[in-house]
Amino acid sequence: MTDHGVIIAGGGPSGLMLAAELALAGVDVAIVERRPSQDVAGSRAGGLHSRTLEVFDQRGIADRFLAEGQKAQATGFAGVHFDLSGFPTRHPYSLGLRQNHIERILAGWVDELKVPIYRGIEVTGFAQDDTGVDVELSDGRSLRAQYLVGCDGGRSLVRKAAGIAFPGSDPTTSNLIAEAELAETPPEWGIRRDALGIHALGRVEYEIRNGEIVYADHGPVGVLVTEQHVGQTTEPTLSDLSAALITVYGTDYGIHSPTSISRFTDAARQAASYRKGRALIAGDAAHVHPPDGGQGLQTGVQDAVNLGWKLAQVVKGTSPESLLDTYHAERHPIGARVLRNTMGSIVLRREDERTKALRDTIAELLGMDEPRRRFAAMMSGLDIHYDLGEGHPLLGRRMPDHDLVTENGSLRVFSLLHAARPVLLNLGEPGAFDITPWADRVQLVDAKYVGPWELPALGPVTAPTTVLVRPDGYVAWVGDLTQPGLADTLATWFGPPTAT
Ligand SMILES: Cc1cc2nc3c(=O)[nH]c(=O)nc-3n(C[C@H](O)[C@H](O)[C@H](O)COP(=O)(O)OP(=O)(O)OC[C@H]3O[C@@H](n4cnc5c(N)ncnc54)[C@H](O)[C@@H]3O)c2cc1C
Repeated sequence: MTDHGVIIAGGGPSGLMLAAELALAGVDVAIVERRPSQDVAGSRAGGLHSRTLEVFDQRGIADRFLAEGQKAQATGFAGVHFDLSGFPTRHPYSLGLRQNHIERILAGWVDELKVPIYRGIEVTGFAQDDTGVDVELSDGRSLRAQYLVGCDGGRSLVRKAAGIAFPGSDPTTSNLIAEAELAETPPEWGIRRDALGIHALGRVEYEIRNGEIVYADHGPVGVLVTEQHVGQTTEPTLSDLSAALITVYGTDYGIHSPTSISRFTDAARQAASYRKGRALIAGDAAHVHPPDGGQGLQTGVQDAVNLGWKLAQVVKGTSPESLLDTYHAERHPIGARVLRNTMGSIVLRREDERTKALRDTIAELLGMDEPRRRFAAMMSGLDIHYDLGEGHPLLGRRMPDHDLVTENGSLRVFSLLHAARPVLLNLGEPGAFDITPWADRVQLVDAKYVGPWELPALGPVTAPTTVLVRPDGYVAWVGDLTQPGLADTLATWFGPPTAT
């Protein structure tokens, strides 16, 4: 007997998203979260990029974020800002919204889906056997589940207890990030760069007007300051913050009453494996890297969306355990790419003449249309491509959210994904395939679409006749209904046919 199908350690963005995906698929899932409430101490992520917004749109919850955030063109690389306005997506922008709000909105959704959260409790260890995992909790209890997923952040206990290696590079820079009051108003707000690195001062409250950040004229201040030395292991204090400010600005502006002070570095590490038996990891538990480009939360949420439906099918017995191997195979290269571009960004932050020259050279390259389009698609997450073999360019890429016309009226592709179920979308002649053996799992939708087919990084592609869209919105098969291979592909991704 198990207490739950899946236990998730950690209810940050990745854990919340995964819990929702499993609950939508009908799996009994619970979260164990150390924090007594969803409050986020200090500032972390500042918003959502296009693909993450699309992922929320696929589940019908994007409006909740759009109602609270501010649209901005906020992707970039090496100091070059990208304008996504021309991209073929309903969300050709980023959304400025702080992580505490993102988590609050996600937690509200998870609550509607009735996922239990054991709050104020830590996972302290686990033991797995052939049929399940015994998860030890800090209150002395133990819970049994079929699978345990560590969404428990960069210092993941699940990763360590599973014995998963976390290779990568040690920090070369150390930053303090804080929210506090200043007795004096600094002569300039915004970003400053010097030989030490990057620093920033700005009111916590701000608005985006005509694409520009306009800070409030009073209230608490967000501070980002690069420290002179790397390697401090103690919790940062107000005097550390004051000393770091004096080193950079010559004054600490009378900083006082901090509500949060934390330290982050440019360490970049990635788990060697995203799964060890019945223990899996996602989000920061699987990869840590500098915050450049604002990609951590996005990558974690998208790990969760890749894993959720696969784990659900394995727990429900519709698919073999080997389906879980595709989680590592698909998501590890995406995480590795984020590590690579953030490590590159760190180097380009330096202020010496040679680095400036390199930054200018890269800026020149990114001024050209093709490189700019490709990097913008990468930094917004719109170009993600899982290697599902040779074929139509849509294969392994995100399904565009086209407006369709069906017998029952018009609808958007993404609305077909709200319940996190796969869709066989037939844009050709109806009736050429019998979906009955998969009808309990896969929706066959006959529709018409007359507009162009265009992908963000690639440009126009030929119109497909039929596409099989996975619950995560990625295309698993392109062809026409009479073509061989469709039945095998359905079985590979969504389990064997039911005898009819
Ligand atoms: C300064 C800074 C700026 C950033 N800016 C951005 C940005 O602009 N855009 C972006 O996308 N990302 C950004 N990030 C990264 C982003 O904050 C993280 O990638 C994101 O929070 C990862 O989510 P997660 O759910 O995987 O992990 P976390 O958010 O770390 O959540 C882990 C959860 O697990 C809980 N937990 C830990 N151990 C246990 C345990 N043993 N038992 C139970 N619960 C446990 C924790 O309390 C926490 O709630 C930034 C990070 C920093 C530090």
